[in-house]
Amino acid sequence: MYDLIILGGGPAGLSAGIYAARYKLDTILLEKEYFSGGQVLNTWVVENYPGFKEIKGDELAKRMEEQAEHFGLEIKQETVKEVTLKGEENIFKTAKNEYKAKTAIIATGSKPRMLNIPGEKEFYGKGVSYCGTCDAPFYKDKVVAVIGGGNTAVDEALYLTKYTKKVYLIHRRDELRADKILQDKAFENPKIELIWNSVAKEIDLGEDDKHVFIHNKKTEQDKKLAVDGVFVFIGYKPNNELFKDQVELNQYGFIRKQKMNSLETNIPGVFAAGDILEKELRQIVIAAGDGAKAAFEANEYITKHN
Ligand code: NAP
Repeated sequence: MYDLIILGGGPAGLSAGIYAARYKLDTILLEKEYFSGGQVLNTWVVENYPGFKEIKGDELAKRMEEQAEHFGLEIKQETVKEVTLKGEENIFKTAKNEYKAKTAIIATGSKPRMLNIPGEKEFYGKGVSYCGTCDAPFYKDKVVAVIGGGNTAVDEALYLTKYTKKVYLIHRRDELRADKILQDKAFENPKIELIWNSVAKEIDLGEDDKHVFIHNKKTEQDKKLAVDGVFVFIGYKPNNELFKDQVELNQYGFIRKQKMNSLETNIPGVFAAGDILEKELRQIVIAAGDGAKAAFEANEYITKHN
């Protein structure tokens, strides 16, 4: 029986791990991917994590993992198949093992949202991508479309210009959602062409005549854009499949906060941290803060209940 199991090895989980290890809680972190870091691994460069003017996403993730392990956190690369969250005993089953703990921190984060248009699934991995950092090098001197108007879309569009000849940034409104500092960079970049008020309707990246069909909502006109790849960045969906019937969620599927000043879920001794939690702003620094707070609360819980 562990004191604490942390589910997910992104910034929230790793930060929880650093704090839990320093509290000397007997803790294990379960992460399904080979590398810890979660979505930070898909981030080319991070400019707003305090202490680093600029750091590559994978480098930041590696440093967090090394720091957690330095304090004694046990990290296992195992995919959890089933969880039973009961408060006094929480059970996590993987293909090989069963782990039990007195408390748990859920830090499973979120995954990219899909457009759900014809061609998107068919060409996934063959021209349709949800990760610029992973796939940009395949588009050297090519033309790509980026769909979305938030920080991720603009960040990734800027990154893609390092490889590509041209990036169409297609947004459904006439104003970007992204932070002004990123907007300015996009407007100044000669390789980025903004396409306003438009939605993608169909993607065809077959052998010949690769294109994305877009529809302008103001003019009601359709247009065929010749592109070699389509990058979709239209937000994220919570990774809640494992516990959605046990932990209370909000209407969008994120874990509901029960009290203003606590990260405890509706199950006593089970806490949530990072992007899986309902919140206004999803940032690495906030996920890390959540992780620290959740570990603090888990430690308090164990002290009280022992
Ligand atoms: P987001 O902020 O939710 O933005 C999603 C974008 O996609 C919005 O522009 C939205 O349009 C558009 N969109 C949503 N559904 C669409 C659809 N079906 N078709 C076309 N467009 C659609 O998501 P995000 O950019 O991935 O960012 C997620 C969080 O991470 C945010 O809190 C963001 O600040 C944070 N983040 C921060 C940084 C950074 O600080 N450097 C980098 C990346 C992400 P509307 O604007 O019309 O709603």
